Amino acid sequence: MTTLGTASAAPGEIDTGRLAVGETRDGSQFGLPVAVINGANEGETLYMQAVSDGDELNGLGVIKRVVPQLAPEELSGTILVAGLVNYHAFQVAEHRSPIDDTKMNRAFPGNESGTSSERIAAAVFEAASRADLILDLHQGSTSRMINETRVRCGKRHRLHDDCLELAKVFGCGHILDQKGPDGQLARAAPDEGIPTIDPELGGCVGWDEESIQYGVDGVFNVLRYYGFLDGVVQVEPQTRATGFDRYGAPNGGIVTFKKDLGEEVSPGETLFEVTDVFGTLKAEVTADRSGIFWRSRRLPQVATGEYVCSVGIDIDEY
Ligand SMILES: [Zn+2]
Repeated sequence: MTTLGTASAAPGEIDTGRLAVGETRDGSQFGLPVAVINGANEGETLYMQAVSDGDELNGLGVIKRVVPQLAPEELSGTILVAGLVNYHAFQVAEHRSPIDDTKMNRAFPGNESGTSSERIAAAVFEAASRADLILDLHQGSTSRMINETRVRCGKRHRLHDDCLELAKVFGCGHILDQKGPDGQLARAAPDEGIPTIDPELGGCVGWDEESIQYGVDGVFNVLRYYGFLDGVVQVEPQTRATGFDRYGAPNGGIVTFKKDLGEEVSPGETLFEVTDVFGTLKAEVTADRSGIFWRSRRLPQVATGEYVCSVGIDIDEY
């Protein structure tokens, strides 16, 4: 029998339930929606979670679509799922928890007697720590971003190759291979010896069908490659960046992009223009270095210095 919160499944069974993490402001008990898919055959354990950031719903779209397709009788090993981690932020459709104004993906491995977000992080980290592989489904929040997978442990980490392999198998096409900030699950879990990736499934308001499909395909690639399901995975070369050049607005006005997401950028090429309200050109911003147009703001209006876009740099294939 494998148990996660109130979900309990014997080999060949699936169950859903709640992982209790405390009480809401009105004193009601609350818990994260969790699932256990216990394969009929022995094997490894995969943990996946979504909505660690409360406005990033594509991962939830992936889980909502993947779980009904999983037949425990065909599965080897166990899948543990936390469908929605940032409970409070999800309720109000915000990125950060409104209870403690914390970004969940800076709170790992969590603290059982800490802040609200640290306690939730600790509860899901306990589940994640039981796994052999971890998928932490994110997206570029509500900005526009390519579909990519992040390896956050850093190049010198003993699990770097394993995390990179997992990212390649997930197969979004693009990878960011850059040591992340403290408190990310994709930083904390490799320290426990568990290969972990942070798929970033595009960026949108609400959710996006194409990015969700990238995620669904990625999860099934992982399940097949690592022997949870039968089947062959065609592992494709990935385009890798190891950092970003970030561009801000030199003045206020309205931004018009001259590059599309995923497009190659050469030094000196125009990335975007800023015009005034009446269409008069105020500034043209060009690329400093070559790379790939990776992410951009969604709203066209900017103030001086405001974030506009990012170019992935140090591009290679592996
Ligand atoms: Zn995120």
